[in-house]
Amino acid sequence: MERLSENAEEILESLWVMTVEGDNVGCLLTSLKVNSDSEELLELVQRAYVEVRDDRVYLRKEGRPEAQMTVRRHRLAERLTMDILGIAGDEGNDQACEFEHLLRQGVDTKLCTLLNHPTTCPHGNPIPPGDCCVTARQKGEPGIVALTELRSGEAGEIAYLAASDDKKMQKLMSMGVLPGSHVTLTQKFPSYIFKVGNSQFAVDDTLAREIHIRRPVQKN
Ligand SMILES: [Zn+2]
Ligand SMILES: [Zn+2]
Repeated sequence: MERLSENAEEILESLWVMTVEGDNVGCLLTSLKVNSDSEELLELVQRAYVEVRDDRVYLRKEGRPEAQMTVRRHRLAERLTMDILGIAGDEGNDQACEFEHLLRQGVDTKLCTLLNHPTTCPHGNPIPPGDCCVTARQKGEPGIVALTELRSGEAGEIAYLAASDDKKMQKLMSMGVLPGSHVTLTQKFPSYIFKVGNSQFAVDDTLAREIHIRRPVQKN
């Protein structure tokens, strides 16, 4: 089958976020910023991915797998642009939107594996798992999460540090907070406090989100 156009993918993505993750039953055409006769909407209707009734668009069960994978690619692309390339804010989001359309035919799997099968995007939204994530979990390969996702008392190893605030990150690194360091989170509120060796560090929510931790291998 022909590839979906980028605009059609954007509609599927919004529908997933608003109706599957959100509480809405269908989406208003106006909130999707399309007309009922828009080409990208017809593309989706022809594949029976969506249904248009009155002024609303509904995601059909036939469209769910594709919508879920579109969301997956977007959030993986966010991890790439924001964490690895260190592009923050609106620019990071724009770049993520462009990258996501390139992540096809196994490229999303490669990126996901490179990032060690992340479970959330930089905003904390879930990344729908792909086959690679399921296989990795079965093999007991540890996933990578932001420091904010650890429970109080949980330990892990720093996988990588994102770079949206170079100065703060360099300061932490100069004090020994480096990839490969063993960390234990001791407190989550009002700020994140973690230990590396005998030193304690306190960071705010923003910085804590940029410290990525590899959880230890689950033994069972
Ligand atoms: Zn996100
Ligand atoms: Zn994966």
